[in-house]
Amino acid sequence: MYRVTLIPGDGIGPEVVEAAKRCVDATGVEIEWQEFLAGQRALEEYGKLVPDELLDSIRENKVALKGPITTPVGSGFRSINVFLRKELDLFACVRPAKIYPGVNTRYDVVDLVVVRENTEDLYAGIEFQEGKEETEALIDLVERYNRGIVRPDAGVSLKAISRFGSERIVRFAFEYALQNGRKKVTAVHKANILKFSDGLFLDVARQVAKDYEGKIEFEDIIVDNLCMQLVQRPEKFDVLVLPNLYGDIVSDLCAGLIGGLGVAPGANIGRDIALFEPVHGSAPKYAGLNRVNPMATILSAVMMLDYLGEHTAARRLEGAVEEVLRERKSVTYDLLPPSEQDKAVGTMEMAEAICQKLR
Ligand code: NAD
Repeated sequence: MYRVTLIPGDGIGPEVVEAAKRCVDATGVEIEWQEFLAGQRALEEYGKLVPDELLDSIRENKVALKGPITTPVGSGFRSINVFLRKELDLFACVRPAKIYPGVNTRYDVVDLVVVRENTEDLYAGIEFQEGKEETEALIDLVERYNRGIVRPDAGVSLKAISRFGSERIVRFAFEYALQNGRKKVTAVHKANILKFSDGLFLDVARQVAKDYEGKIEFEDIIVDNLCMQLVQRPEKFDVLVLPNLYGDIVSDLCAGLIGGLGVAPGANIGRDIALFEPVHGSAPKYAGLNRVNPMATILSAVMMLDYLGEHTAARRLEGAVEEVLRERKSVTYDLLPPSEQDKAVGTMEMAEAICQKLR
């Protein structure tokens, strides 16, 4: 029996999380789900976006399944997702991008994994607002050390990439490749321009790669070139490891390659805690309509089962999803062409069809 923290989230979150929970339960793996509110609904009920009990539960259970959370605009709170990743030090964001037969895409074969560093880079939130005293001091410092000219009316965001942060994400990518039968790791950067941040990332990646010589192939690529090649020949890539900002952008690009946000799963993984969640957001306009695709969250739950070591159940659940997609009888609107929209089923009906395959 496992204990897993369950965070339904906002908008379409509760529907897709309930769908995924039912599918996991149908595999027969025994899980005691500990459910907690977070985000908008927690704010309304407890006056707090992230209740302490929720953090305690994740720290204790070490595994969580989460729905998307709406980031309130103008609340002064950056993002609950960023907060959770920082607070729990979930340094690796893993987003597999694989085409399943039956999903509408422009490509035949895509099967790659984006491993994004989650804690550093421009997303660390170290920012200096235009016109503030500290911003002026920073601008003076830049000039004093002859690092260039920053206009006095500039806002500044710091991009810091450390040896420590680079080493642990690149090593994670290689270990992931080894454990998941992958052949190649590609380090993505802009080291030709950003010599001291991305340059450091690349140096460290090359060092770490030496430990895996003969086991996992290694290459590096400049991020703009990667974007072009991903669009032209996505089948060339296997595991991509990227600093935070490029990882964010490239993982959405990869979601586009495989059929959109409705089918893209993800996980945020730390040293001993893992939080599984779909790539998509809370899509408020669809909330409560039982319309959206639960597949991204169900595939995130497949990743969770693998993480728990329940590989047989994971393969069975993934197989059940594949069968339902192939049959095209019980799928949501986004998986059907415009001419077949009248055949679409709801979120729970698709989940139920997947559960049926497991029984
Ligand atoms: P979104 O992903 O919520 O929705 C964008 C569009 O994608 C939707 O309108 C819909 O057309 C489609 N879509 C998304 N999920 C789908 C699904 N399961 N099935 C079918 N179609 C689907 O992005 P957004 O509108 O930019 O963000 C809404 C809110 O979600 C914002 O508050 C944002 O901050 C938040 N968000 C949260 C997370 C997270 O919690 N991890 C991630 C991204 C965005």
